[in-house]
Amino acid sequence: MSGDVFVIAEHRDGAIIDTTYELLGRAKALAGASGGEAVAVLLGSAVAGLAGSLGAAARVIVVDGPGLASFSPSAYQAALVPLVRERQPALVLVANSGSGMDVAAGLSAALDLPLAAYAIDLTVDANGPLVTCQLYAGKILAKVRFTGGRGIVTVVAGSFPADAGAAGGSPPVETVVPAATDERIRFVDLLRPEAGDVDITRETVLVSVGRGIGEQENLELVEALAAVLGGAVSSSRPIADAGWLPRTRQVGKSGLKVKPKVYLALGISGAPEHLEGMRSAELIIAINSDARAPIFSVAHFGAVADLLDVVPALTARLGG
Ligand SMILES: Cc1cc2nc3c(=O)[nH]c(=O)nc-3n(C[C@H](O)[C@H](O)[C@H](O)COP(=O)(O)OP(=O)(O)OC[C@H]3O[C@@H](n4cnc5c(N)ncnc54)[C@H](O)[C@@H]3O)c2cc1C
Repeated sequence: MSGDVFVIAEHRDGAIIDTTYELLGRAKALAGASGGEAVAVLLGSAVAGLAGSLGAAARVIVVDGPGLASFSPSAYQAALVPLVRERQPALVLVANSGSGMDVAAGLSAALDLPLAAYAIDLTVDANGPLVTCQLYAGKILAKVRFTGGRGIVTVVAGSFPADAGAAGGSPPVETVVPAATDERIRFVDLLRPEAGDVDITRETVLVSVGRGIGEQENLELVEALAAVLGGAVSSSRPIADAGWLPRTRQVGKSGLKVKPKVYLALGISGAPEHLEGMRSAELIIAINSDARAPIFSVAHFGAVADLLDVVPALTARLGG
């Protein structure tokens, strides 16, 4: 076994996705502690040019083949299994994204390596890696160790700062031709969210509302607050599922990832799938009637209160 920490790099439309930088930054720190290197593993077809965006890695392994032109869980697994088996990294870090969860679970099963999912923290001490996983919609935090010291970790977006892993440069690149391919699952089409009336990914202030709003009519109160703050209204998934707001306003795993300067979370519990879309916001303020709501674990400021009391009072105070 080496002390290396592999990071499976995600990319889309010819650019590395931020979560990869979050993982790389942490991989560097972990590899230092385990006596190995942070190694980015880049899969795709003719993607070697992206290695220049992975300067935080000590090395980049480019696994390049036509069968990897678009994401396919079976093709990625077929390409990665022999590589991980041969190189024996101490850890394989994968984003807890839709594709990342497929890759990590497949690798874990094929290599009989333990998998810790929904990780929000990851350190290495004298006893090896220690992973903190957020379970049951964030109501339980589990501290996990790997028997044997090696494992695969899927990390929730926003758990680590991207800055530490975002660097250009020219790391040494090793190109590997996939040892095997598997076309049982073929990529057909990428469905992108429709352009909406408001692009919540570009707003600097988001007033985001969850099931705690109670009734659709109460949305008026939130719209009024967003108006005085010069922001837009976004939501958790149940609000979009109910059709109270368009899907384009949904924040989270199956919605959009936002990074506003201010994110006001009103009546949102803070499930991991929601946090995945907003935990990188610069300032998070939560209002929730339940003091134990997981949203308070990521909020910079919070009030345990009824949003139906606070929102109109805040709007009035701000001059609305
Ligand atoms: C594959 C998958 C993808 C998903 N994708 C997403 C996603 O993209 N985005 C997303 O948001 N979710 C997503 N989810 C759903 C997610 O797991 C949660 O169910 C959802 O985020 C919960 O929404 P909520 O916080 O609005 O509702 P709840 O969890 O019901 O929380 C409501 C909160 O409001 C509080 N509250 C109630 N009344 C008041 C009041 N009067 N004043 C103040 N607070 C009050 C309660 O204390 C509670 O904390 C996904 C789930 C899966 C399985």
